[in-house]
Amino acid sequence: MTNPTTYYEPIIGLEIHAELMTNSKMFCGCKVVDSAEAPPNTAVCPVCLGMPGMLPVINRQAVEYALRVALALNCTIQHHNIFARKNYFYPDLPKAYQISQYELPLGVNGWLEIELEDGSSKRIGVRRVHMEEDTGKLTHLEGGGSLVDYNRSGVPLLEIVSEPDIHSGEEARAYGLKIRQILRYLGVNSGDMEKGVLRVEPNISIRPVGSTAFGTRTELKNLNSFKALAEGTAYEIARQAEILNRGGQVVQETRGWHDARRITFSQRSKEEAEDYRYFPEPDLPPLAISDEWIATVRASLPELPDAKVARYQADYGLSAYDARVLTEERAVAAWFETAVAAAPTHAAKTVANWVINNLFALMNEKKQGIEQIQVTPAGLVELIGLVENRTINHNTAKEVLAEMFATGQSAPAIVQASGLAQVSDEAAITAVIANVLAANPDSVTAYLGGKEKLLGFFIGQVMRELHGKGDPAVVNRLLSQTLAARRQA
Ligand SMILES: [Zn+2]
Repeated sequence: MTNPTTYYEPIIGLEIHAELMTNSKMFCGCKVVDSAEAPPNTAVCPVCLGMPGMLPVINRQAVEYALRVALALNCTIQHHNIFARKNYFYPDLPKAYQISQYELPLGVNGWLEIELEDGSSKRIGVRRVHMEEDTGKLTHLEGGGSLVDYNRSGVPLLEIVSEPDIHSGEEARAYGLKIRQILRYLGVNSGDMEKGVLRVEPNISIRPVGSTAFGTRTELKNLNSFKALAEGTAYEIARQAEILNRGGQVVQETRGWHDARRITFSQRSKEEAEDYRYFPEPDLPPLAISDEWIATVRASLPELPDAKVARYQADYGLSAYDARVLTEERAVAAWFETAVAAAPTHAAKTVANWVINNLFALMNEKKQGIEQIQVTPAGLVELIGLVENRTINHNTAKEVLAEMFATGQSAPAIVQASGLAQVSDEAAITAVIANVLAANPDSVTAYLGGKEKLLGFFIGQVMRELHGKGDPAVVNRLLSQTLAARRQA
């Protein structure tokens, strides 16, 4: 297939729904529970079941969480907020309407920076951030019939709508990942797409390059991973290009993503879509948000990923890539910063290298998160200290770290118990060098005849005799001296 982006410019906007991890639901006192684990219909009450005459009350914590997100996304906060009824009839919606912000969203005109695979970054506009409530959850049974679980009904939900500034599947994925990272930093959402607590829906259209009119758009649903978001978006761009290339017209519709077949398919055309008949929710007063409240929430925000990356580069001398890797998760960044604080000032980069090159490898291998590992930040710094004061060499230190990871023991305890301390006794090393040279007379002759790269072979033999514990600097120096003396002899 020809590359569709040569002829067409894809225009993509993303709608993201994020459940807020508050204690209770948006408009009642029911607990917010994990709908994958809690028994169905156990966290419900007359309000979230839509019983007649029940009155909703706004959850202050949900508004605060929504404010955190809107501020982190650089939005302007609206002081006067009104909730509306979004009317439609569906079995997962017991009231037959959803309470949502419509005309006046909480936050508008925000933005965030995304990082692309080639290392460049790009600013994407955030059109609106608004509060609403989630619906219940339907399970359709094989052979007919459906089950409904209202535990999710009324859970606070945030809708985040981007400007149509996204132009490829890769950009859509980068934007989605960045939103998820920020939500996790803010502690308002776990980012678990497979559990449905974070749902990403792109609107996709294409137009000939140079054209300013928008093409007909389709909306993609059922994306349960960021990989599916990137692939589904790319598939949809190619599908639309193929239709236009053969003179056809794109139909405005909602399409699903088939994860196994990796294709999109028609779910619902626009003609069948509902008219929601929005009107102001009569049971809720307008929500006033004061400058004071905004300032309090703003002051409580944690340092966000972009700020951390900039600081790590400036203060620790790290590359942008290393800084991104270390700040991917807030807990990892906190662990790293604790270690840096315990280390000598010059050692920040060394600590970063040990975390990225060695600790992450062990964590991946054992499938452990930073919260689960037995190695402490101070423990890693202690290990680095043993390398710096030449008690052990770098290769031994890697083995010691693996042992620390497996047993939780300290580096000095492991070094002592296993006799791993490095040999830097010059007399002992000189004796081993003499043995190695005596055992390899042909190589010595070849070396003295000009094959100087054999030095590496000799070092290897000496280190092997020392069981890998030789101080590399001392071995290197004594070996060079001994060979130089033979050359002069
Ligand atoms: Zn309830």
